[in-house]
Amino acid sequence: MRGYTFHELRQIDRSRLGDEVPLELFRAIRLIGMQQGLPLEGKGTTASIGRKIGESLPVKTLDELLGLFAELRIGLPRVLEQGERSIRIAIDDCFCKGLPVIEEKKVCDLEGAILEGALGKILNRKVSVRETKCNVCGDEHCEYEIRIYE
Ligand SMILES: [Zn+2]
Repeated sequence: MRGYTFHELRQIDRSRLGDEVPLELFRAIRLIGMQQGLPLEGKGTTASIGRKIGESLPVKTLDELLGLFAELRIGLPRVLEQGERSIRIAIDDCFCKGLPVIEEKKVCDLEGAILEGALGKILNRKVSVRETKCNVCGDEHCEYEIRIYE
C-alpha cells in the first residue's frame, strides 16, 4: 500500500479554506471517534496510532520534537526534569484545555504515544511514556513521565 509521509501531508492547496481546521474537529476525532468509538476507549489502538505518528515525524532531537509539538499546536511543551533515564514534560495550552472536568479521566494518551514513538526513534532506545497529569481531571497542566531503557 502506498501511504503518505508526514512531509507529503504538508502539501496543502486549498485556496479558500487554507491549512487549518478548528480544534473541535481534532477533539471530535480524538474524544468522540477514538475514545468513544473504539473498544476499551481505544487504548491499545490509540497507543499504536500515536507511536506510528511519532515515528513519522521529521525530527532528530528532543528540542526539534518539542518545537514541532508547539508548531502543530498540540500544546506548548516544557521540560521539567531531565535525567539519563527519565524526562518529565509539562504541556501548557494542551488541546484538552477548557474541556469540562471529568474526575479521574486523562485524555491525552495519543499525544503521549506520539512522544513515545518519536523519542524511541530519536534515541534508538525503548522508551515508555506515561500520562501523569491532565487538565481534564483538574490538574494545572498535562504532564508526561518518560522512561528511557538501556
Ligand atoms: Zn491534555
